[in-house]
Amino acid sequence: REVELLGSVVAERKRRVAAVIEDVERSLATPTALLRSIADAMVTEMERGLRGDIHAQLKMLISYVDNLPTGDEHGLFYALDLGGTNFRVLRVQLGGREKRVVKQQYEEVSIPPHLMVGTSMELFDFIAAALAKFVDTEGEDFHLPEGRQRELGFTFSFPVNQTSISSGTLIKWTKGFSINGAVGEDVVSELSRAMERQGLDMKVTALVNDTVGTLAGGRYNDNDVVAAVILGTGTNAAYVEHANAIPKWTGLLPKSGNMVINTEWGSFKSDKLPLSEYDRVMDFESLNPGEQIYEKMISGMYLGEIVRRILLKLAHYASLFGDIVPPKLEQPFVLRTPDMSAMHHDSSHDLKILGSKLKDIVGIADTSLEVRYITRHICDLVAERGARLAAAGIYSILKKIGRDKIPTGESKMPRTVVALDGGLYEHYKKFSSCVEATLTDLLGDEASSSVVAKLANDGSGIGAALLAASHSQYAEVD
Ligand code: BGC
Ligand code: MG
Repeated sequence: REVELLGSVVAERKRRVAAVIEDVERSLATPTALLRSIADAMVTEMERGLRGDIHAQLKMLISYVDNLPTGDEHGLFYALDLGGTNFRVLRVQLGGREKRVVKQQYEEVSIPPHLMVGTSMELFDFIAAALAKFVDTEGEDFHLPEGRQRELGFTFSFPVNQTSISSGTLIKWTKGFSINGAVGEDVVSELSRAMERQGLDMKVTALVNDTVGTLAGGRYNDNDVVAAVILGTGTNAAYVEHANAIPKWTGLLPKSGNMVINTEWGSFKSDKLPLSEYDRVMDFESLNPGEQIYEKMISGMYLGEIVRRILLKLAHYASLFGDIVPPKLEQPFVLRTPDMSAMHHDSSHDLKILGSKLKDIVGIADTSLEVRYITRHICDLVAERGARLAAAGIYSILKKIGRDKIPTGESKMPRTVVALDGGLYEHYKKFSSCVEATLTDLLGDEASSSVVAKLANDGSGIGAALLAASHSQYAEVD
């Protein structure tokens, strides 16, 4: 009798596990036809954003960058990159067309978590102090002409309403940041005041989003770069638009005829998005409920957390980890995306790495092979949905600029490069290869042979320095 009872308990457990997995598979599915209709909806939202429709989901922010780097930039410039889990300071000596990047140095500092949710002054003081310390280490390889002020490109990876190339107000925080009183403030004045408090004499000559910085850095190295995408803690894209295709732009038509647009695609939301119960609850409990829905399905801050929520459901409803639910698994964000990636990439027959990760993260020492396979499958489903949605986004940008197919009357599509950066894209191989394969699939053979996705590793820092150079207060003199 006991054996019989045990048998039925096991059968019931298996039935429940299977039911949850089937439901997850169904709610996370992204058939190609769905991706195409998501891309179409994104193009529609881009057009609304460019018209200035306040209800548009893609803000399509004007960057005031109407010229991308040419290679002629020269001099010493600094950059500061804030927006993920780390921030970076960088200096570069640019040598013009012949010598290009003569020398560069950078430092990475991780942001103490309490500063991400503290006060604006504390955050900016911390950053300015690190920058001042870095400036002090400037060696002899770097040259600042006599009597000049040091200049900085500020990469600030949040949505900003730019009022010029070197000023703009914060629209809202995203990712893990939530600082009172900063929304609506000019981020350049805040940084400048903090630099003054540090006794640092430096002028911000360019304020750029990381996507815009990556686009600038990408273009410096490759003339065919037309768009940049970040797949990191958050996600976003920028691209080169025809200035006359931006109805809300009321300024003079730039000489180049172009304007870089920061799409802020992370805030895209649509009934078409395959949103599961896990996404809904995660969103509800997040720092910014109802916002950045597309970002929450794709980016590095959230993928591991979605996996955790699915595993937790399996633990509660189907006793995946035995009779008790591991208390650690109840803790939001314990499962980080790099750990998810490590588990997902474990291809050993006994999933040893995955097993030891589960031990570290969830606190369960000897998980069965079955549990490990299930965990890996969940990682696969969540990563694949994110990567395929990201590919739909890239495809929508290519559609917007007419680089999704061979132009009528032409025999070939021009070479089209998309610069990509962000830890998720750089380090999560199964994710990045899925992005690329899906993009190829969406574009078809002919068009995809002209489209290149190129890793622009830390392009945004150097890009901001290049834009600081082309907008230097001394540019006329030189
Ligand atoms: C921000 C964007 C940024 C992206 C990638 C998003 O959360 O809204 O401004 O470009 O993250 O860092
Ligand atoms: Mg970054």
